[in-house]
Amino acid sequence: MIDIDGSIGEGGGQVLRTALGLSLVTGKPFRIFNIRAGRRKPGLLRQHLTAVEAAVRVGAAHVAGAEPNSTNLTFEPSGIRHGAYEFSIGTAGSTTLVLQTILPALLVAEGPSTITLNGGTHNPMAPPFEFLADSFAPLVSRMGPSVDVRLNRYGFAPAGGGQIVAHIQPRALTPLHIGRAAELRTPMAEAIVAHIPISIAEREVRIARRRLSWPPDSFRVDSTKDSDGPGNVFTLKFTTADVTTVVTGFGEFGVRAEALAHQACESVRRMRTSGASVCRHLADQILLPMAMVGEGSYYSEPLSTHATTNMETIRQFLKVEFRVDEVADRLVRVSVRELRGQDQARPFVT
Ligand code: AMP
Repeated sequence: MIDIDGSIGEGGGQVLRTALGLSLVTGKPFRIFNIRAGRRKPGLLRQHLTAVEAAVRVGAAHVAGAEPNSTNLTFEPSGIRHGAYEFSIGTAGSTTLVLQTILPALLVAEGPSTITLNGGTHNPMAPPFEFLADSFAPLVSRMGPSVDVRLNRYGFAPAGGGQIVAHIQPRALTPLHIGRAAELRTPMAEAIVAHIPISIAEREVRIARRRLSWPPDSFRVDSTKDSDGPGNVFTLKFTTADVTTVVTGFGEFGVRAEALAHQACESVRRMRTSGASVCRHLADQILLPMAMVGEGSYYSEPLSTHATTNMETIRQFLKVEFRVDEVADRLVRVSVRELRGQDQARPFVT
């Protein structure tokens, strides 16, 4: 039984999700305590409970402690069951994070899966749908399996009510090495609003036009009625070194459209001047599939605590080594390597 302290590093939900994902993949049971101790409301919230429920169903697992606000959980899987599943969070909690919990297992399952998720699709502090569909899923698909994600309905916080559907076709995972940023291709700036004036989207895109020297046809505004509640997402998207970066900002009460757009443009500017081809969010999330392969590398801006915490959690389940080499002022090369030789040598050393 692996013991995990949920308060390490970032102390967020990712420690739990990574543990659930890798417990399913490896078949190793675990106990976690101090769940989300680093957050304002610690313990299991609706989104985390749904992630646990999804892992229990996919892994035919035995679980103890899966209750609202619980800070302790024991999880014992008994094998991966692919197939068709539907999970509902019941709040605007993030559907993309629930999907990411069971995705590692479904990538290596014995057959395809279709996962329908109801809840939030555009939440602050979580990957928005566009990031999952255009950045994360294509990168995982380049490693072998096919991951295709569709948005059926927007679920903006706080109303929720969104729906995404993922089709996963497992195939052997292969190593992925991503080079430094190169020329920027297919840039796009898009602002979408639901049940609020389109002028908000126009103000965001006006800032992007002014700050980014992208072709005139790369700027779009749109309004959707496919949403229970009001919402606004501003997305900057481009491809470099065969990786698509998706930077997003969410409209919030009290945050000016211009400020949100400036912040997103600033993230793009910083990333472009650093030479990074993997954004800071992708940098923490792609570690897990790369570690499952036992080989991979990428260039990103200096790592977040999400990334370093994820490395620590992954190492509790997989015999891998992570290296972070500073290659320039604001650029690191991150590499993952399986410790197969050392693992075999261990009995002789002890
Ligand atoms: P946690 O805070 O531990 O629940 O983890 C949140 C996860 O959501 C991390 O993997 C973050 O990188 C990811 N995340 C947060 N905001 C974004 C965003 N705007 N785009 C993509 N991923 C995000």
